Amino acid sequence: MAEETIFSKIIRKEIPADIVYQDDLVTAFRDISPRAPSHVLIIPNKFIPTLNDIEEEDELMMGRMFTVAKKLAKDEGIDEGGYRLIMNCNAHGGQEVYHIHMHLLGGRPLGPLLIDQ
Ligand code: AMP
Repeated sequence: MAEETIFSKIIRKEIPADIVYQDDLVTAFRDISPRAPSHVLIIPNKFIPTLNDIEEEDELMMGRMFTVAKKLAKDEGIDEGGYRLIMNCNAHGGQEVYHIHMHLLGGRPLGPLLIDQ
């Protein structure tokens, strides 16, 4: 059984984070180690360790992650210039925190595909 991560504590506001959006399904906060001028993480309030653990019942929440990403891109002023949404899964995907999250990255040209290599 996977254990909750630091992201659950951020959702419950038990540890500080720069939360930019929260509703009944998702929370969004600035990445502590930003890789672009705008780098926000959008996560489900429900603890789901990896993309492999998503169920059909999570479809509404997964859809919300995209509509919140779109809204935040506009709020950040990066919607017209463009941005990238990334979700990493397990070791080969480069996942470090095992609570699924969508990276919203923008504010500079990001290159052809990968953000770090
Ligand atoms: P990933 O490699 O896709 O699992 O990304 C995890 C992301 O979480 C990294 O970009 C980290 O910088 C970010 N991160 C880890 N801990 C925190 C935290 N306490 N607050 C904000 N972002 C965090």
